Amino acid sequence: MVENGADKTQSPWPEHCLGAVSLTFDDGLRSQLESAIPVLDEYGLNGTFYLNPPAEGDEAGWRERLAPWSIAARNGHEIGNHSLTHPCSENFAFKAGARGLEHMTLDEIEADVLEAERRLLAAIPEQQERTFAYPCYQTYVGAGTGRQSYVPVIARHFTGGRALGETANDPQRCDLHCLWSHPVERQSGAQMVGLAEQAAAEGRWTVLTFHGVHEGNLSVAESDLRELCAFLARHRDRIWTAPLVAVARQVRDWRRA
Ligand SMILES: [Zn+2]
Repeated sequence: MVENGADKTQSPWPEHCLGAVSLTFDDGLRSQLESAIPVLDEYGLNGTFYLNPPAEGDEAGWRERLAPWSIAARNGHEIGNHSLTHPCSENFAFKAGARGLEHMTLDEIEADVLEAERRLLAAIPEQQERTFAYPCYQTYVGAGTGRQSYVPVIARHFTGGRALGETANDPQRCDLHCLWSHPVERQSGAQMVGLAEQAAAEGRWTVLTFHGVHEGNLSVAESDLRELCAFLARHRDRIWTAPLVAVARQVRDWRRA
């Protein structure tokens, strides 16, 4: 029986839900602990927080710095892997003179990501399964004829991977290890609500990428985040909001079935 368009053979979304939304936050910024998580908690929503575990210092030091995120994990948020050293293209001005993706190998990127994973598992043992977000949305190593995708590396180790794209994800056809996301810096609450409504209208899964809340050059205003969260809480029977790992798992299992 088809109710509210949510035929289970046609869609992986929970009963009555028409589409899915994942709220993802990158780089472990302070405003995410101080502002984003309290707003999400207030509205009973769970997000995904992609961290780079501290690359420097001793084990006690990095465990201590990850401790606040372990509380977020216990409250239902996903703590995702964003690599250890956040490697990006050497073409970025902030990489001036530094070695970047163009000079890395697949083995090197895998070692970087797995060291981040080891630290996340040690500091946040309650969460054993997670997804990965490509630093700077870039999914390759090497350059020119030597350029290779590292999506297969991520697919071997994670439930899902978040990249960059132009639309919401089609649950039938999207690559779970190279999911498309919308960067939402400087967007209004109404614009972000529009992206969520579009997912419901199309039966798709919208992934929003946030950085700071009133912090840094890619920030959103807390009032806009709050407007989005209030909308998602009000429409939770129609739009499924869940961490990336939960939606990726659901889509994977639905495809297998
Ligand atoms: Zn990042």
